[in-house]
Amino acid sequence: MSKAIRIHATGGPEVMKWEQLPTPQPGPNEALIQHEAVGLNYIDVYFRTGLYKAPLPCTIGMEGAGTVLEVGENVKDVAPGDRVAYAGGPLGAYATMRVIPADRLVKLPKEIDFKTAAAMMLQGITAHFLLHRTFKVQAGQTILLHAAAGGVGLIMCQWARHLGAHVIGVVSTDEKAAIIKANGAAHAIIGHDNLAAEVKKITGGAMVPVVYDSVGKDTFNASLDCLAPLGLLACFGSASGPVPPFDIATLGTKGSLFLTRPAFATYTAARADLAAAAIALFEVVASGAVKIQVNQTFRLEDAATAHAALQARQTTGSTVLLP
Ligand code: NDP
Repeated sequence: MSKAIRIHATGGPEVMKWEQLPTPQPGPNEALIQHEAVGLNYIDVYFRTGLYKAPLPCTIGMEGAGTVLEVGENVKDVAPGDRVAYAGGPLGAYATMRVIPADRLVKLPKEIDFKTAAAMMLQGITAHFLLHRTFKVQAGQTILLHAAAGGVGLIMCQWARHLGAHVIGVVSTDEKAAIIKANGAAHAIIGHDNLAAEVKKITGGAMVPVVYDSVGKDTFNASLDCLAPLGLLACFGSASGPVPPFDIATLGTKGSLFLTRPAFATYTAARADLAAAAIALFEVVASGAVKIQVNQTFRLEDAATAHAALQARQTTGSTVLLP
């Protein structure tokens, strides 16, 4: 038997139920994995609350690490006993065991333990595509990053500094400001009430070529005001709620700006892109340039407590759920 956190209705953390299920069987091109660690991500909150839709009942979760127990027909790249990790759909990570398409799995190098893998696959691959593909960050550039002390945020602070960029990080507390400064951010701004004025002061009036905004509704307009002409707003999350409908003429009047809504699924749809991003992540972690900080762990069956902490902005860095 397997155990899983399932939701039968969308809502608050209390809709997550710890249930016993039959052991799933891998079909063709699939693998059965025994999880050693599961990653907690803000997207799990969107599925639990219903902001993102999934057929119910369902097991949420998009990231895990563990050992392959069994493979279905046609699976050649992984075998029972392999140490693997994955990020992205299909949903189903909040479980002791799960079945997943084998082409979504990445074999773990021996220096990456399960907990680190479960903490970093989704947030680290996201950091990779945001810094290298959504906008190609260059040495010497100054960039603006919201939620900089969070899971994606702390990885991006370190990786951007490794690329030679200067990160202005936005956070909500003094404590988080100290954390991002210890992790590569050149400047910390607390709150977004005077964001453009503070960015203007830091950049000597030049403003920034890219803003990475995962907060959404509360910060969208302030983020646009921080961009240099022809700058790019990468609006990659909605922690404060979705951005309301927007008049694109504003992009013209604010300096012929670019706006994108990057999604993990697009950037990792091709197996080659997923593998290349994972290798880049393994290298930057193995080199020590990026340290994955698992600042909270919870038992998987206590996922509701973990969700409450994440939504209350009490977490920093990455969070792992242990089956
Ligand atoms: P985080 O650890 O960053 O947690 C969210 C953080 O957002 C909080 O700690 C908080 O930091 C900040 N925040 C600002 N406003 C609010 C609010 N109203 N409620 C709650 N939090 C708020 O989470 P993750 O690292 O898992 O994800 C970061 C973001 O990146 C999420 O928005 C997520 O959806 C997005 N994402 C998008 C991907 C994509 O493909 N597009 C892939 C992966 C992640 P503070 O207190 O400092 O403000």
